[in-house]
Amino acid sequence: SEKNFDTIVALCKNRGFVYPGSEIYGGLANSWDYGPLGVEFKNNVKKAWLKKFVQENRLNVGLDAAIIMNPQTWVTTGHVAGFSDPLLDCKSCKARHRADKLIGDVHPEVNVDAMSFEEMDAFINEHEDVVCPVCGKHDFTPIRKFNLMFKTAIGVTEDSSSTCYLRPETAQGIFVNFANIQRTTRRKLPFGVCQVGKAFRNEITPGNFTFRTREFEQMECEFFCKPDTDLEWFAYWKDFCKNWLLSLGIKEENLRLRDHEPAELAFYSRATTDIEYAFPFTDWGELWGIADRTNYDLGRHQEASGKSLEYFDPDTNEHYIPYVIEPSLGADRVALAFLCEAYDEEVLTDDKGKEDKRVVLRLHPALAPYKAAVLPLSKKLGEQAMPIWQELSKYFMVDYDETGSIGKRYRRQDEIGTPLCITVDFATFGSDTEEGDGCVTIRDRDTMEQVRLPISEVKDYIEKKIQF
Ligand code: ATP
Repeated sequence: SEKNFDTIVALCKNRGFVYPGSEIYGGLANSWDYGPLGVEFKNNVKKAWLKKFVQENRLNVGLDAAIIMNPQTWVTTGHVAGFSDPLLDCKSCKARHRADKLIGDVHPEVNVDAMSFEEMDAFINEHEDVVCPVCGKHDFTPIRKFNLMFKTAIGVTEDSSSTCYLRPETAQGIFVNFANIQRTTRRKLPFGVCQVGKAFRNEITPGNFTFRTREFEQMECEFFCKPDTDLEWFAYWKDFCKNWLLSLGIKEENLRLRDHEPAELAFYSRATTDIEYAFPFTDWGELWGIADRTNYDLGRHQEASGKSLEYFDPDTNEHYIPYVIEPSLGADRVALAFLCEAYDEEVLTDDKGKEDKRVVLRLHPALAPYKAAVLPLSKKLGEQAMPIWQELSKYFMVDYDETGSIGKRYRRQDEIGTPLCITVDFATFGSDTEEGDGCVTIRDRDTMEQVRLPISEVKDYIEKKIQF
């Protein structure tokens, strides 16, 4: 992509979307804090997901489970034994790397996700062109397993009996609550459970800004259905997820659906597709993993807990463990995709032929941090403009700015994606000699066109604009 990622990151840092975490102490590798604009924006992303997946969806309900779960959960799922990255060191410069990444960077034609750690070891030994990106040597230690779960301890004694983990995915909180939710909501299959929450992974090579971090948020749905209807629902959710992205402004040409090949599939999965996005720093990056996980998770939890997780089907009088389709999306990662998609620079020419660059964040209005900005043409109009802000701020996040020329103020709002600017001028309220028209001027971020509207109609106008 021709978009410059560094420029987008700089805008995020300078305008208060994202700051380096604990910056005054020199930061903490790849931790990021969402600033005043970032928190609004990311909340809007999560709200947009919940709106389409829960509020407007008759099939789904919500959940907010604990981050620290009974550690047996992660034994059952295989995370304790096998949720690991293949780690190796360069013997020459001591730099630490992920073997799958080293191979993938030099040999994009091989499917590293389908390789075992032993196969990666062998591949690296046979291929002299796989070298350390730091010093350029081909001299590595053997691969060792590095578990990605963050360990902590509960209570006062730090022995193995108190070991517990920060969840590496939100999904398991849903599976362990399956029976509770089914019973209390009296749902029949199919139905889904949706959750937004933090997940933690001790990634060896985090990076590319908020694309891969050790602490991140996931938006996951576990959709339970009858066995043998799973592939139909798999297709349904693939479409649904893609449409969600398109309806929020992601362009079709920047999306790719990548089906996992049989060798790459987890052994319990019947089908998996990644929705990938054309991030400016790589060719394609995974955005959304959609997997048919069969009855594996509930089956394992039933076996390990001794509690029945079977469903009684009143239509067929059968007991069975439901199948599950899991669309799993990173909130930070999709937020980054929306930012990359929205960033735009255009050259404007004024009446005198002078050229000027305009930076615009063309965010979908539903995602924009501020829905509108109230801009009194002169500071003298502040007293009259402020009540307009006060009224609108009951319904939306609205900015107020009275400093600098109106042109500069428009540009500041363009840069942070504010869809509408509301200008209050001397005609709005009139003067001693002239009656005001009670109207304000509304300028559109994308077209820069202006309309004049009665103040009483502004709220509805904004409401319509942010519909999603
Ligand atoms: P990757 O191959 O990029 O490590 P994954 O296949 O391990 O990802 P999943 O376990 O399927 O990822 O997680 C589901 C989603 O959660 C991903 O599609 C991504 O959007 C998000 N995600 C996973 N790991 C991270 C991370 N370290 N930082 C930010 N988002 C993440």
